[in-house]
Amino acid sequence: MEENPGSVKTDFIREKVARDVESGKFGKEVTTRFPPEPNGYLHIGHVKAICVDFGVAEEFGGVCHLRMDDTNPTKEDTEYVDSIQEDIHWLGFDWGSHFYYASDYFDRMYDCAVELIKRGKAYVCALTPEEWKEYCGDLFKPGANPPGRDNSIEENLDLFARMRKGEFADGERTLRAKIDMASPNIHMRDPVIYRVRHTSHFRQGDKWCVYPMYDFAHCLEDAFEGVTHSLCTLEFEIHRPLYDWVLQSLDWKNPPEQTEFSRLNLTYTVMSKRKLLQLVKEGYVAGWDDPRMPTICGLRRRGYTPSSLRKFAQAVGVTKFNSVTDAALLEYCVREELNATAPRFMAVLDPLKVVIENYPEGKTEWMEAVNNPEDASAGTRLVPFGREIYIERSDFMENPPKKFFRLQVGGEVRLRYTYIIKCERVIKDAGGNIVELRCTYDPATRGGSTPDGRKVKGTIHYVACREAKKGEARLYDRLFNVENPGADGVDFLTQLNPDSLTVRECYIEPELAKCAVGTSVQFERIGYFVADRDATADRPVFNRTVTLKDSWAKLQE
Ligand code: ATP
Ligand code: MG
Repeated sequence: MEENPGSVKTDFIREKVARDVESGKFGKEVTTRFPPEPNGYLHIGHVKAICVDFGVAEEFGGVCHLRMDDTNPTKEDTEYVDSIQEDIHWLGFDWGSHFYYASDYFDRMYDCAVELIKRGKAYVCALTPEEWKEYCGDLFKPGANPPGRDNSIEENLDLFARMRKGEFADGERTLRAKIDMASPNIHMRDPVIYRVRHTSHFRQGDKWCVYPMYDFAHCLEDAFEGVTHSLCTLEFEIHRPLYDWVLQSLDWKNPPEQTEFSRLNLTYTVMSKRKLLQLVKEGYVAGWDDPRMPTICGLRRRGYTPSSLRKFAQAVGVTKFNSVTDAALLEYCVREELNATAPRFMAVLDPLKVVIENYPEGKTEWMEAVNNPEDASAGTRLVPFGREIYIERSDFMENPPKKFFRLQVGGEVRLRYTYIIKCERVIKDAGGNIVELRCTYDPATRGGSTPDGRKVKGTIHYVACREAKKGEARLYDRLFNVENPGADGVDFLTQLNPDSLTVRECYIEPELAKCAVGTSVQFERIGYFVADRDATADRPVFNRTVTLKDSWAKLQE
């Protein structure tokens, strides 16, 4: 990995597209498509595909279509259609007027199937899946021609029409492409291209009881739309001969070309839609947009920004090699961005009360605080200070080790933007727990300066008790506690991280309570958070996006 993960500019796909543009191969503008099946919410893997599909089109001055690949009637739903559009727009891409449904092509696809029959390239087969096993061979053994393969064209046309009319039950007949039962590529051994499914389609209703198979449908969808470059993931590489066969068999002029790249896999999460749906349906997470989910809406609610996700996709790059990306890289991308953009605030998550005995009762001083040391244009704000404040419990130690530079009895520490204080004594409850610290402050150190040149190594944050607002910090962590959930036949649900969410009531400085929903901030010394929209909460909620600790940079050392 290079120092700047955004610096990867070209790859084998972009090189191919550049060559095709140069040679004028397709005689039209570069046209790609992103074809999600509307049976779930989009996830971080789709972000990679979206960045490739829309990104390539954008870079070459072409267009990218958004197509709902809704040819499977059983699991699709408009809820997903809506979320898919919202998520792609949020990521910063636009399909203009090119929004399509594969199901709108059912008539044309049916006509193409009829045309294949007329050309002697498809036939109706009566074998059950069980019976088919006797003919299909395996990786080491060629298949054998099944009965019905030499039906006349007239017979096939009649049977296919009857399939469409509903005369056969599910599975009783299929339409197969007549290719080569001895092909070394099993996908070319007379694959099914149409099947009977007596199921309503969410857009087509009961108009159809025959539905096209993916391999037949997808290349036609691309061809109908005038797609030039059909970019997809590696598992389709072995299907490519069929993609080309269908279009060649129909004498399609200037057919689209499929090019495959590797899927994104990410540690500590799952990406299969089936598993994500299970997490939602069975209540392991609060919904598709739970901030622990790898979905786009979950990442958004977690505080990821569109640019951080696009940068991540760019850092991952486009290759032909399957690999697993470290979740730390994703965290790195958002941390880098938020470091430059997020305003800093003070919040105390595990409060310990401090009383400053020589500070006047009832007095509040407003200290000037820098909003973002990385960005002077972010300006300053005023932070209150008074006789009673909260500090983090972990910033005090009764019996500290040698190099503890925060607060200890008899020791001094700097309060961020404020004064130097000294701890005089500890107050404990009956059980011996520390409940309060008694301190004094040095009025000569306003703003944290030390006019006498004495050394105070530690600086801690605080919130003034009187002006503090209550908030809720939701500390999210990885959803699973193993890198590859579900590997080696283990039930992925047993690998959920029980500590993936910790809720803390916290004290926040007054300005922080005014943040608009969706605003990213840094809680000084704690982490990056985003103001959440949870309408059921009676106080401002902040979701932790990432901690400040950069484990990615560490890994690279
Ligand atoms: P699932 O197998 O879980 O149903 P899918 O890959 O079939 O998911 P689709 O909605 O069909 O999901 O995907 C739309 C597009 O996104 C496809 O072109 C697919 O190749 C791509 N895609 C899906 N997952 C990933 C991933 N992890 N990395 C890169 N691209 C992906
Ligand atoms: Mg799919």
